Amino acid sequence: MMKLRLNTSVEIKDSLQDVPLPSLVRIPIQNKHKPIVKKKQIVGRGQVIAETSSKSAFGLGFAHASIDGVIEEVLPDAIVIGPIPAPKEGETAQVPVRPEPCTELDGLSGEDLCRKLLELGIDTDRFHAARTLIINGLNPEPGVLVSEQLVKDAQETLKAGLKILERGIKPGTVKLVVASGKQISLHGCTTVHSSDVYPATIDPLVVCAATGAERPDNVDVISISDLYRVGLVAESKLPLMDAVVSVGNKVYRVPTGMRVQDLLDVAGVPYGPDWMIAFDGPMRGQAIFDLSVGIPENCSAITLVKEGLYPKVQPNPCINCGECVLVCPARIQPGMLSRYAEFNLFENTRSQHVAACLECGMCTFVCPANRPVMQFLQLAKRHLAAQDEFVSTCRLQD
Ligand code: SF4
Ligand code: SF4
Repeated sequence: MMKLRLNTSVEIKDSLQDVPLPSLVRIPIQNKHKPIVKKKQIVGRGQVIAETSSKSAFGLGFAHASIDGVIEEVLPDAIVIGPIPAPKEGETAQVPVRPEPCTELDGLSGEDLCRKLLELGIDTDRFHAARTLIINGLNPEPGVLVSEQLVKDAQETLKAGLKILERGIKPGTVKLVVASGKQISLHGCTTVHSSDVYPATIDPLVVCAATGAERPDNVDVISISDLYRVGLVAESKLPLMDAVVSVGNKVYRVPTGMRVQDLLDVAGVPYGPDWMIAFDGPMRGQAIFDLSVGIPENCSAITLVKEGLYPKVQPNPCINCGECVLVCPARIQPGMLSRYAEFNLFENTRSQHVAACLECGMCTFVCPANRPVMQFLQLAKRHLAAQDEFVSTCRLQD
């Protein structure tokens, strides 16, 4: 078997980089979002542009304008905000109204606080009252530097995030997991050292390293980036309007929805038509084919790979070599499962524990046949989830 060592930890030299506010953003929204703005409406930076209908404290955060501007498009997957046109002769210039800081944030706790954070743009679906809160301080994938950069440069914001989370979910213990050998700490957390060799950096394996148990009860895990986003809101008392993304060997704080091409231009990163570009890292990232898409708030990196550097992944036949089984941290059989999914035998993937797949991408990475192994498993999981939802909806209507 090929010897792999995918270390994620690096020495961070540069500081967190800010970028100039772009004149146009394309803010991604999801199916559950309901846009509350109309084309040609003037919006101020921080104004709510899409809500969710749920009244729960835990779920998808509202979407907010990250620049002052005019709504140019309301699309099913994005809201485009562009520059406000100059007023015509005799007309008064329209002034965008920005929201006031949310002063009530300091007086809230428990579910009321989580609900307010959700309204201010924080995804709270991972926040539950838990005995133990684990903060994953490891860089998520090789080449993605966000976690270590934030620990180095944003201690005050992280502290503010932790303080507010402690009021929201009231954990008994908070553990910060960092790479072995790194002297990193965060006020109020017990530091736990763990391997930084991918896939040990993904959440389920970090929980296992911090608690000694697989899928323990009453444990929540969030990333340093999640904590930073909460900290930004806690410090400013304003909605979340920024994402933190790694590009090359630098990390940028950018307004949500900044177009990928604009960030690559600011970063001065070379790219061309023969480059593959993805949101997030090289192991689990999603390829993007349109550089005018906006950067989502939870994106951790823009990964660029020149064509020819990696073999093309395609549905070649499985040669049953077993390499994927050897690297799979979930201890399932990715090759067999991928073949079931390939031939629409989705129920077989269910009984063979496809749900245990951690979507780490190691099976695709080592496959000598260059099969999209993880992607077949993702297909099976999505198919089974859609089928289960359909069945439960039918039962509700009976
Ligand atoms: S992505 Fe592949 S290697 Fe990773 S857990 Fe799933 S099946 Fe195993
Ligand atoms: S999916 Fe790829 S790595 Fe797994 S057994 Fe088949 S050929 Fe080998």
